[in-house]
Amino acid sequence: MTKGGKPSQRPFIIPIFVPHMGCPHQCVFCNQTSITGSNANMSPGSITERIHDQLSAQRGKPIRREVAFYGGSFTGIEKKVQMQLLSAVQPFIRKGFIHTVRVSTRPDYIDPQTLELLKGYGVKTVELGVQSMVEEVLRCSKRGHTADDVLKAAELLHDGGFEVGIQIMVGLPWDDAHRYAHTVDRVIGLDPHFVRIYPTLVLKGTLLEKWYRSGGYTPLSVKEAVDLCKGAFLKFYRAGIPVIRLGLQSSPELETQDCVVAGPYHPAFGHLVESSLFYDMASFLIGRSGQYRILRARISPSDLSNIRGQRNRNLDQLKRRFGLRDIQIEVDEKQPKGSLILINGTKLDGMSYRTLPFS
Ligand code: SF4
Repeated sequence: MTKGGKPSQRPFIIPIFVPHMGCPHQCVFCNQTSITGSNANMSPGSITERIHDQLSAQRGKPIRREVAFYGGSFTGIEKKVQMQLLSAVQPFIRKGFIHTVRVSTRPDYIDPQTLELLKGYGVKTVELGVQSMVEEVLRCSKRGHTADDVLKAAELLHDGGFEVGIQIMVGLPWDDAHRYAHTVDRVIGLDPHFVRIYPTLVLKGTLLEKWYRSGGYTPLSVKEAVDLCKGAFLKFYRAGIPVIRLGLQSSPELETQDCVVAGPYHPAFGHLVESSLFYDMASFLIGRSGQYRILRARISPSDLSNIRGQRNRNLDQLKRRFGLRDIQIEVDEKQPKGSLILINGTKLDGMSYRTLPFS
């Protein structure tokens, strides 16, 4: 991943989940088993097997291949076990089958010795579960670390030459739009290489579920979460920081096992955010165009579903709102992603994620 909003060629990622291994904490929203669908501890043998399976299933031309230890707090695991897990990847690195390793962990589990160890085993990327940069929100969520821990960890990672990823959450207890905006601004100040944004869900078996059932916590609606994420997405975009994930990856566990008790879960949450941004851009452009009944919208091929919206909802709403007979879509390979040109008769007008006004 490069800075400047331009993702490098996406690596082929082999995910390995280490749920709750090494984590003595119990954040109010966390039930790693529900999210990853796994509570099995990974052994070096099972890691070797998994990498073999995934490599043989990989199709297409060879690209950068990465093993990613997700979930839990990797650097909080006993050192001996960290080394065993990372050792399982080394034969693949030596043979050139795997190029890099990434781990996710807590900000307070980063120190110079830990980073030396990671470096020695080919770890290039460290993702920090930051969630918020507001002390009261961190306290209410029982995170067990401070915003200052995040600053120190990010500095050590940058100094050590690591690629830094930051995960934040929207809708945490005690959070609001103002505090969330503060978190986004402070995360931009950390200069990460990428971020992930997750809406807070009430998962079964968590303390948040108890609070929700007793009326002590009200989750965001999908619309509220989308609106907050739109603002965050635009700020990160304009700061040249790619948002590589918006919303939890959908999984059979999330879809079918009643594990989401409440909250803004949507299997295509990221698409909701981007299609809402396209709706806003189109509204602005149509609003300032003349009185034509048929308009043409030119977009990048990768934004086709964003301009249409879920089940063509954007186009239907725009037609109704502005009394249009039709909006014709033109796909142009040369059009940058995240931008829209509206053609009204012979007049052209354009807008992009960089220029869309937002408050
Ligand atoms: S630190 Fe991470 S793994 Fe541990 S309880 Fe919190 S969210 Fe879950």
